[in-house]
Amino acid sequence: AAGDSAPVFSRAQVYRDKLAIVDDSGSHSYRDLYGSSRGLAGRIKAALDCPSGDLQGKRISFLCANDASYTVAQWASWMCGGTAVPLYREHPPSELEYIISDSQSSLLVAGQPYADTMEPLAHRLGLPYLQLPPTSSLSSLLETPENQPEPGITDWAQRPAMIIYTSGTTGRPKGVLHTHSNIQAMVQGLVSEWGWSRDDVILHTLPLHHVHGIVNKLLCPLWVGATTVMLPTFQPQKVWEVLLSSKAPMVNVFMAVPTIYSKLIQHYEQHFTQPRVQDFVRAACKERIRLMVSGSSALPQPTLLRWEEITGHTLLERYGMTEIGMALSNPLKGPRIPGTHTHTHTHTHTPLTTTIFLCAVGVPLPGVEVRIVMTNATSTTIAEGNSRETQVRPGLEGKEGELMVRGDQVFTEYWNKPEATRESFTEDGWFKTGDTAVYKNGVYWIMGRTSVDIIKSGGYKISALEVERHLLAHPDITDVAVIGARDATWGQKVTAVVQLKRGRSMTLSELKTWAREHMAPYTIPTGLVLVEEMPRNQMGKVNKKDLLKHFFPS
Ligand code: ATP
Ligand code: MG
Repeated sequence: AAGDSAPVFSRAQVYRDKLAIVDDSGSHSYRDLYGSSRGLAGRIKAALDCPSGDLQGKRISFLCANDASYTVAQWASWMCGGTAVPLYREHPPSELEYIISDSQSSLLVAGQPYADTMEPLAHRLGLPYLQLPPTSSLSSLLETPENQPEPGITDWAQRPAMIIYTSGTTGRPKGVLHTHSNIQAMVQGLVSEWGWSRDDVILHTLPLHHVHGIVNKLLCPLWVGATTVMLPTFQPQKVWEVLLSSKAPMVNVFMAVPTIYSKLIQHYEQHFTQPRVQDFVRAACKERIRLMVSGSSALPQPTLLRWEEITGHTLLERYGMTEIGMALSNPLKGPRIPGTHTHTHTHTHTPLTTTIFLCAVGVPLPGVEVRIVMTNATSTTIAEGNSRETQVRPGLEGKEGELMVRGDQVFTEYWNKPEATRESFTEDGWFKTGDTAVYKNGVYWIMGRTSVDIIKSGGYKISALEVERHLLAHPDITDVAVIGARDATWGQKVTAVVQLKRGRSMTLSELKTWAREHMAPYTIPTGLVLVEEMPRNQMGKVNKKDLLKHFFPS
């Protein structure tokens, strides 16, 4: 099954006995994964009573541990021509049921640890159910008597490959449908830009129901024949252990979300206190690791700087979303621009120069076109570019607007939501990300979600991400989310939801006093809410709509 958009499994034949995945159960070669997937594909076809062997258009929902069984379930769904719908163990049963029903799945597959969750669910929904053997004996799938020849699919490009549900940060998760050609475009862009090769070994610790965990960290290495070391859950101690281990296969690529980096830093501060150990950590990371990436939400500057001190690596920050894969990336080689950037706010009576703490997210990846468009009625294009160049409309450099994206990797549709799909594209085919961005000094900067992160207060437009970055520099603050609480006088009030370091206290006036020395006056919070623990989901994201509803019910 060759062809331009053939799924990742088609390359397994080339890599054969090369190590594909190392997990808690052991080592799995490309040949193993391919064989087990074919065995499972045979069972899926038999369970759905499909004589032609082509399940085009059928969805298969699966819940597997973060190990080789996940890839087997995904590849098997594709080998049958079907659409893979990955579920995640942290979804409560109601959420699992929502995704299974919303995607109108025809069959459920469960990895061995999730049989107790999935079998009753399948029963209740009246769906056929298949359980995988333990990951250590996936090869027993090879003995499937129903094993049938592959259906000889050639029209991969336009075939629906995967429905991935969004994080639900701004509402109920939406099913995002990607064809095989969308996925190929995502993989190709990253493989070329981030220099993936078969010698790479990546450490994987992220959930496998988002583009970050699925595409960037798993399909890219599988496409090039690299090795993925998978940990079942994220534990800071374990991650450090693997990163610092000189045992083969030795990890040389790591990617994570900002909260993971901050947890790794916390662990380091607590446990790696001796200078000798610190020197070792730095030398090991510097020597062995070629690339460390952060994304999925804004990388706080203190995290970036501390990580640099500890490991000698400037994190490569990139920007992406479920609907488009990765769109913007700092360069693999060449300067990553993490620093502050000076921004003149000309919409004030007296132009005021302030320092903005935003990490730049680089330029478009190969194959991606982006635009920044004014959100007013004129819809003027402020900047438009691709991986090679960006054109800015004269006089508009640094102006805020909505980021829009076009390219082969942009999703096909929100599953079963034609209205939402229509609304999310312009007439000329640009996907509206809903994020506010600026283009300045040759790079793009993400200001945050237009709906919740851009706070309009007393005529000012304030980026919640910028305020968060400032507040994180406060010595007593561990975590913060800035929201715009509705206010009769100001429109919205900059309100900081703060998690303090243990044993610390803080009043609003204390916070304001500190902020006056560090921040532009109009960005200083005028509201403070203290929380025991910031409610973040598995991708480290805060649902600001929920925070607003909870603390400021209207
Ligand atoms: P939902 O669409 O269900 O509300 P979500 O948008 O959080 O959830 P994802 O597709 O997982 O779901 O996340 C994409 C969003 O994450 C982007 O729109 C952007 O706001 C944010 N994001 C991703 N990378 C970065 C980054 N490097 N800096 C700032 N924000 C980022
Ligand atoms: Mg979104």
